[in-house]
Amino acid sequence: MSQKLSEAQKNSEKQKAWKSSERFKNILRERNKNNPRFTMKGRKWTKEQRERQSQLNKITHNTPECKEKCRKINLGKKMSSETIEKMRLVNIGRKASKETIEKMRRSMIGKNLGKHHSESTKEKIRIIHLGKHLSEEHKRKVSFALKNHPTTDETKLKISKANLGRHRTEEMKQKMSGINSSNWMGGISFEPYSPEFNNTLKENIRKRDQYRCRECMRHQNELFKNTKNGIRPCKLSIHHIDFNKKNNAPNNLISLCSMCHMQTNYNRADWTEHFNDVLNI
Ligand SMILES: [Zn+2]
Repeated sequence: MSQKLSEAQKNSEKQKAWKSSERFKNILRERNKNNPRFTMKGRKWTKEQRERQSQLNKITHNTPECKEKCRKINLGKKMSSETIEKMRLVNIGRKASKETIEKMRRSMIGKNLGKHHSESTKEKIRIIHLGKHLSEEHKRKVSFALKNHPTTDETKLKISKANLGRHRTEEMKQKMSGINSSNWMGGISFEPYSPEFNNTLKENIRKRDQYRCRECMRHQNELFKNTKNGIRPCKLSIHHIDFNKKNNAPNNLISLCSMCHMQTNYNRADWTEHFNDVLNI
């Protein structure tokens, strides 16, 4: 029995040595001279070849059966941290095309419906984002994206329903107000307006701006506010472009509706630059 085993072992070792010998490799090379799969090994594909292969894969691997097979094979498998790191490095700087993003969006619709992050996931996300601040460019992008996706009335209703009866705790209020607020600018909002910033001056600026918000161009006649006594007409606000309440020069003042005026509390430097451009046009 043991003799037989050792003989088998010897044979397999012989075979291994034969297969790794140069002579065997030469024979193989000669035999597969015209086989594209063999000759392509180690070479880089040309664009056309890659395109052809990708189209071939689309036909052969894009069938539901094939996808199901792949899904089953990979079910429950987890990538090693090494693989994840490799994929991360490969994907750095790569951007998905609009088409791909749309596909990803569609495939996710309804999948996360009603799902919530677990407490441990929330904690992980919190730790990742700790101390991170969005760059000015990122903020601008977010603001631009939100501008193009106005909240629908339906969504507003949903938000309002969800918040019904909810109140901020005293602790939360403390955290969000005054010096603790992310918008704290050193207390400048408590500085008083100077006496020259009076109704006559404000009215003159409104007149100069033809009673239109210089950001969204809505007319003062279209503006209303919701008060305790019902809906009332609303005047345009006069905004200090450089955020200095004492600088009441006409070229530092601009008419804005309350919605647009509220936005100027973020990215102040950008708004100053923007309104200076608006007045100089
Ligand atoms: Zn406006």
